[in-house]
Order: sequence, then C-alpha cells, then structure tokens
Amino acid sequence: MFDNVILIRFGELYLKGKNQDYFENTLKNNITEKLSSIDCKVFFGRGRYVVKDYNQSFEYDIITRLKHVFGIHSVSIARRCGYDFDEIAELAIQMTPNSGTFRVTSHRSYKKYPLNSLQINMKLGERILQAKSGLEVDLHNPEYTLNVDVRENGDVFLYDSTIKCAGGMPYGTGGKGLLLLSGGIDSPVAGYMLAKRGMSITALHFHSYPYTSEAAKQKAIDLAKLLGEYCPSIKLMCISLTEIQESIHNNCKPNYMITLVRRFMMRIAQTVATKYFCGCIINGESLGQVASQTIESITVTNAVVNMPVFRPCIGMDKDEIIAIAEKIGTFKKSIEPYEDCCTVFLPEFPLIKPTIEKVEEQESRIKDYNELIERAIDGLEVVQL
Ligand code: ATP
Ligand code: MG
Repeated sequence: MFDNVILIRFGELYLKGKNQDYFENTLKNNITEKLSSIDCKVFFGRGRYVVKDYNQSFEYDIITRLKHVFGIHSVSIARRCGYDFDEIAELAIQMTPNSGTFRVTSHRSYKKYPLNSLQINMKLGERILQAKSGLEVDLHNPEYTLNVDVRENGDVFLYDSTIKCAGGMPYGTGGKGLLLLSGGIDSPVAGYMLAKRGMSITALHFHSYPYTSEAAKQKAIDLAKLLGEYCPSIKLMCISLTEIQESIHNNCKPNYMITLVRRFMMRIAQTVATKYFCGCIINGESLGQVASQTIESITVTNAVVNMPVFRPCIGMDKDEIIAIAEKIGTFKKSIEPYEDCCTVFLPEFPLIKPTIEKVEEQESRIKDYNELIERAIDGLEVVQL
C-alpha cells in the first residue's frame, strides 16, 4: 500500500548562480533520457527529484542508470505516504527492525506541517518503541536510522540508506573535448574525469592497420561504448596512422619514433577537434609513467598545438587510475591484450628527454608531412556505436 520511490539528490549545481536553470535543465534532460526506456515517472521538484510509478523489478536497473548520470550526488530508495501521522507511524513501524538500536532523523521542508522536526523524531520514536519492545533509542551511534522527509506537496518519504552516485556536473554543461582514446587503461579514465565535470566527449582513436589488428580497433570501440554509459551519445572516430608511421620509420632515427608519432597525433587531433567543435584535447598521460610522459616529451608534443590539452591523470599513480577504471567498468576491457599503434615500430630505446630542435630536425626529413596529415584526416572514419 505504500509506494516505493527513488529520491534523487544533486549537490554542486546550486553554486552556479544565474546559470542554475541551465545546469538543472540539462540534468533533468539527462535523467529523462537515461530512464526513457523504463516505464516510470520522474517528478522534478525544487532541490529534489523523485522517480515514481515503476515496477519493483526495475528498481535495480533504475538505480544503476542514475549512478551513471553526472550531477546526481546520491539516491535513496524510499517509501511514500501522506501527511497523516498514523499513516507515517504505520510505515515507520513496518520499516524498522525488531531489535537493536535506532533513531529517527526527520527533515521538514513543508514548514506548515503541524509538528516540527524534533517533535516528529520524538513522537515517531515513541510509536515505534510501543510497537517493538526489542528496540532501543540511541541518538549517537544507532544501528538503524530512519529518515523522514516531509515535502511540500503532500508527500512524506521514509528511507534508511543512501547510495552514493557519480557526483560532478551535468554532462553537456562543460563544453566539448576531443578524447584521444587508445585501448589502454588511462585514456578512458581521462575521458571519464572530464565528462564528470560536465564536458561532452568525442573520442578519436588511431590505429595502424594492418600492423594493428581489427580486434585492437574493436577494443577501442568497446571502450567508447562503455564510456557511453556516462557520456550519452559519445561519438568515436578512427584514423589510420600507418602511412605516417611508415614514413617516420623510413626517414628518421628509430629512437624518435614515439615522439614523432605523438606530434603527428596531436596535429591531427587539433584539426579534428576544430572540425567537430571541440575546444580542447584530452589524453591519458601520467607523469613519468613511460618515456613519452616526461616533462620534456610532453613539451615537445604539446608544442605543435595551440588549444588546451587536458591530462586529468597526470598526477595519479597507476593504482589510482586502475581504481577508477574498475569503478567505471572499463578496466577489464582495457587489459585485453591487443597491440596499440604506439607499439608498432617500437624502438629499443625511446627518447626520454627529446629537445624541440632535434625533433624538428628529424621531422624535416619527412618531406610531405602536411600531405600525410591531410590524407590521414581524409580517411577519418566515424564509427557507429
Ligand atoms: P593508455 O593507457 O591510455 O593507453 P598509456 O599509459 O598506454 O595510456 P601512451 O601509450 O603513452 O600511454 O599514451 C598516452 C596517451 O596518448 C593515451 O592515454 C591516449 O590519450 C593517447 N593515445 C595513445 N595511443 C593512442 C591511440 N592509438 N589512439 C588515440 N590516442 C592514443
Ligand atoms: Mg597506451
């Protein structure tokens, strides 16, 4: 007789002053979109949203989906009743366990309710104790807390636990970025980190077919789909680096391979980013992790672009990155053993501290490098996810 509902809380949005409506409307749209294929209703109240009228068997699915919507702070499965105090007490007695310690914590946003929060706590506590002799009140360290939320529109919600969600800012409120998506562990995490701050993600994957396999490309596609759980309608584009890598291989010193490939990647990324209205490039570099991720290497690769390059993993340890990859569900896919284009023509001793002058000197040996870039971009393939 008491309906189950899901309460949705959002946090940081309120810091945004005049833009608040924009942030909230985006969040509402994202929630509506995420739940569109489930039969349920979402009510968007002030400061709190409520999912109602769903079949109990969808509850887990709804919560899983809400956990993937940035901007949602936490959710609670609650039960709903009206203002009538006997009704509230009946529901409270149903929900509390039969023994142990408990407390009632109520919150009254409907200020005209005849009892204030403290009175609700006390009166409800009494009624529960009358019904359940095995229970004891413990205000400081209770085993069970019953939360009571008296809302303005006649609803009273009772719940006993809160599920933490992704937090962050609503997806789509933070501009648009081009994520360089390899098949590795770090770049999906990098994309997630910026999506969490509201940035829309478009992904670009480089392959070196036939040196890299179809399976390696499929892995990037699968990762983009997994990211799609958090990044609605994420796009993935693929570009072949094969000709560029062959040209570097044939013309330049072997130990410059990675540095030069990265500079080509960045140039191509910038052109693609501009074409697809992305204001920045995002990659998964982490300082000191490999030879191409020293300050000297990053300086040399960064020098060929003039838009911001965001590296949200730069200060993270590998185990910290892995913990996020596991949480967002990309880790298992990322560790599948397929080759990356960066491992094609891999030199025995990659440069750890390249200098711009020497790199430019090596690069000048590739006479047609603008054409190479143009041809690579002409071959851009948009993958249907
Ligand atoms: P990841 O785990 O993301 O592959 P990594 O530790 O293997 O990173 P690198 O191979 O040096 O490091 O790559 C650094 C970053 O360059 C990656 O995080 C990614 O953003 C980008 N990158 C590398 N390879 C590719 C690729 N094939 N396609 C697109 N971007 C790539
Ligand atoms: Mg990699």
